[in-house]
Amino acid sequence: MERIGSLIHHGEILAIKTPSGSVVGFHARSLEVAALDPEIWNSLTATTDGTANVVAATQELEDWSRSLDPRSKSGRVEHAIRSLTINVAQVCNLACTYCAAGGDGTYGSAIKKPELDRVREQLAMLLSHVPQGERFVITFLGGEPLLVPELITTIARDARLMVAGRGIELRFDVVTNGTLVTPEIAELLTSLKAHVTVSIDGAPEDHDRARLTKSGKGSSLAVLKGLNELVKVRERLHSLTAGAVFGAHNLNVVQAYEFLADYPFDSIKFDFAAEAGDEEASREYATQVAAVADLAWQRGGEHELRRLAVFNHLFHALDDQVRIENHCLAGKSHLQLDTEGRFTVCQWFVGQKKKRSAATS
Ligand code: SF4
Repeated sequence: MERIGSLIHHGEILAIKTPSGSVVGFHARSLEVAALDPEIWNSLTATTDGTANVVAATQELEDWSRSLDPRSKSGRVEHAIRSLTINVAQVCNLACTYCAAGGDGTYGSAIKKPELDRVREQLAMLLSHVPQGERFVITFLGGEPLLVPELITTIARDARLMVAGRGIELRFDVVTNGTLVTPEIAELLTSLKAHVTVSIDGAPEDHDRARLTKSGKGSSLAVLKGLNELVKVRERLHSLTAGAVFGAHNLNVVQAYEFLADYPFDSIKFDFAAEAGDEEASREYATQVAAVADLAWQRGGEHELRRLAVFNHLFHALDDQVRIENHCLAGKSHLQLDTEGRFTVCQWFVGQKKKRSAATS
């Protein structure tokens, strides 16, 4: 049990004391919201673990956790790989201050792009296990993947050939810093009917604090130029997402939302780059995300709230009445392939020797 101001976190349940004194519980797995007896709050906050009241209060919350609405479906994900992220370039034209890929997109590897034959072999192996009627997602990631557009084109073409006639839906995602999007690259992305995510941290003055070119200048002008090319072909892409990263260096989440909301993004995704000693920053980030929720609601109600990825997955779970039983799909339905031909369960482990498989040959 952990108390933060007027919140108590107990297992999968968040208890919130409202200014009027009532207590509301939110269950992270079933997404149920329920009024809680204020006595539960008093017991949990009064005290020392182990007293009779605390044990009773804890028991009541655990009973709630065990009771499942029979109308809801399990969201448990089977161990079957249906998504592969390929690092087509472990090199980047930018040098963002918070880059988690080794500071320069390389993840510390000297191998800047993968061997095509090996990628083909690994992709064919994964696709051979996908049954008819299912979908497989290939994400092109870097570094900056648009440094190697020819590799993206070839891998996508080969993947399409591998599933031809098998009734498998292929989806292509591209995550880019946006600076290299020319009209030709935009056409390439439309030919994949790609889901494109552009990394943009909000208004230029905020974006330019961390997203720097190799010469130390802000990259916002180049990103906005690339973004405009994508907006021109927006109808022929599958979707367009903004990916914004915040942290102690930039906590202008509300300002970022106000800037990004005017672009035709289908989705706006916020991430928080944790740095040492950033407890204050993470609290401020949470406060601003809550303010963004209010603004989005005023701007366009539920439709606009659904544009924010942080809330959209909750809406989806409610739409389909699916319990959230896997908060992360890494290694269950998703794998990552680096330029050395090694699998890891997600991008955060690329470059970490203990976390990766031996290269298959
Ligand atoms: S664009 Fe991405 S890979 Fe490139 S330096 Fe910035 S964070 Fe790293």
